[in-house]
Amino acid sequence: MLKIITHPNPILRKRSQNVADVLSDKIQKLIPEMMETMKAKEGVGLAAPQIGQNIRLFVVGYKDKNLVIINPKIIKKSLLKEWDEEGCLSIPNKYGQVKRHKSLTVKYLNEGGQEQTLKASGLLARVIQHETDHLDGILFIDKAKNLADILY
Ligand SMILES: [Zn+2]
Repeated sequence: MLKIITHPNPILRKRSQNVADVLSDKIQKLIPEMMETMKAKEGVGLAAPQIGQNIRLFVVGYKDKNLVIINPKIIKKSLLKEWDEEGCLSIPNKYGQVKRHKSLTVKYLNEGGQEQTLKASGLLARVIQHETDHLDGILFIDKAKNLADILY
């Protein structure tokens, strides 16, 4: 399993670079490792900077959807936004309310290097925005209100 780096590691604050070759051995090996790590940590998304790689790639695992999203471009966003609770595997035990676009359209490359267009709403749209922020060095704590620690 991959090690997840945590805030305030500076890797989380860098802008990540596009993936040049989706079919390279490095990327093809990384994708299942990231998927496995996300599932093991019970996350719904995991971005490459969180495992120490500043490249524009993230995985999403939500209900029956397992998505690999590479070089994403959010090409449409709803005017409507909504608040909901978020957390992050790189910021353990913190939660807060974040305002996000309710729905969006994203273009990206899948694990086979094929261009995809996805319309998403609700939690899926939220996860895509949270993970895309990671690729730009933005963390949910930058946007959250009512940040709270969960104490066990
Ligand atoms: Zn996160």
